[in-house]
Amino acid sequence: MTVEFEMPQTKQVVVQKFGGSSLATEELLRKVAKRVAARREQGADLVVCVSAMGDTTDELLNLAHRLSGDYSPSPRETDALISTGELVSASLMGIAIRGLGHDAISLSGRQAGIQTDETFGSARIANIEPARVLREIKRGRIVVIAGFQGLTPADDTTTLGRGASDLTAVAIAASIEADVCEIYTDVDGILTADPRLVPDARVIPQIGYEEMLEMASLGAKMNPRSIEMASVHKVPMLITSSFNPHAAGTKIGNLEDQNSNMEIRKSITSIATERSVARVTLHGIADRPGIAAAIMMPLAEAGISIDVIVQNVSSHGLTDMSFTVGQEYLQRVAEITSQNTEVGYSDIATRDGLAKVSVVGTGMTNSPGYAARMFRALADANVNIEMITTSEIRITCIVDQEHVATAARALHSEFELEAD
Ligand code: ASP
Ligand code: MG
Repeated sequence: MTVEFEMPQTKQVVVQKFGGSSLATEELLRKVAKRVAARREQGADLVVCVSAMGDTTDELLNLAHRLSGDYSPSPRETDALISTGELVSASLMGIAIRGLGHDAISLSGRQAGIQTDETFGSARIANIEPARVLREIKRGRIVVIAGFQGLTPADDTTTLGRGASDLTAVAIAASIEADVCEIYTDVDGILTADPRLVPDARVIPQIGYEEMLEMASLGAKMNPRSIEMASVHKVPMLITSSFNPHAAGTKIGNLEDQNSNMEIRKSITSIATERSVARVTLHGIADRPGIAAAIMMPLAEAGISIDVIVQNVSSHGLTDMSFTVGQEYLQRVAEITSQNTEVGYSDIATRDGLAKVSVVGTGMTNSPGYAARMFRALADANVNIEMITTSEIRITCIVDQEHVATAARALHSEFELEAD
């Protein structure tokens, strides 16, 4: 009897994504190509996913608006237009890598098998047909893919939403079962706080998907949809610097799978902040079933997302409700709500100039005391709390915008995030 051994495939399959600021000039593009080539020489199979160079997407959008006269440019044409930014950077990257003596091929989103729905401007990925990408890898080529775009069943080009090249990279990584999806950006990794507010902020070595998702939706510079996709498909990610080759970056993954690290992890991973928050308060609304829906529906239909919502205990059948929105929506929200005939109220009050500060960390699940520590630290720093909400792994306070830096610094030091 003969037994055939198949050698285990040990070559790593790596997806690398480079953002627009890492590709803004010819010089930067050349640097990125060198970095890709160096990684190749260490022996990995590579797929490189790119954004448009610098501010190309914005420039194309501005051009479209100038040319469209009194009309808004059609979403279909807009997508056809702005998808070209990524086509340019992908083909240039392919050319630059070949210039360094490595075999490379660039593919559009369509050629890479990315199929989407028909929501122009923010299309959802329906499916990825990875055969072509896998075939090119097998032929020994570095595959360069234009991020941010896909194709509808009706053969029209779509884009996936602003900043969504990350999503392309993660989706491709999932479809080819890559070992890691590396996101190269203009910071050294995911930081414990915004360094403009907290000078002591440092790079978080590793973080779970759940925590990262909370932070991404709280304004950390990551596309939340890409984190969600990575989490569902268990794609390990690394967020690191395109400019600093010594940056260790932040690993995002399933921390439950790495028990040894779980023990030494901090209970609070980071302080997330968001400026430009506004609050709307409706006084004297009827406390009856359907009232919250009646208030929120027209806002949802206008595409405005509501954040923190607080409803008071009612007295004499009347209650108050407050909610926050991005400051830029305040005017519209006030208009829509005051025209809402389904909701009666005695008085509407608005307040802008607020900010949101949150502590995030899976370590606080099932351990009491974190909220109390947070409120104490804010009180000691003389910061007034306007509103509070929590999730299982996050506590958020709404504070005056003027105090956001003080609040962030106080919490960063309270939870000892400055030290390893
Ligand atoms: N170029 C696109 C944008 O600026 C996609 C991206 O950068 O990820 O939104
Ligand atoms: Mg961009």
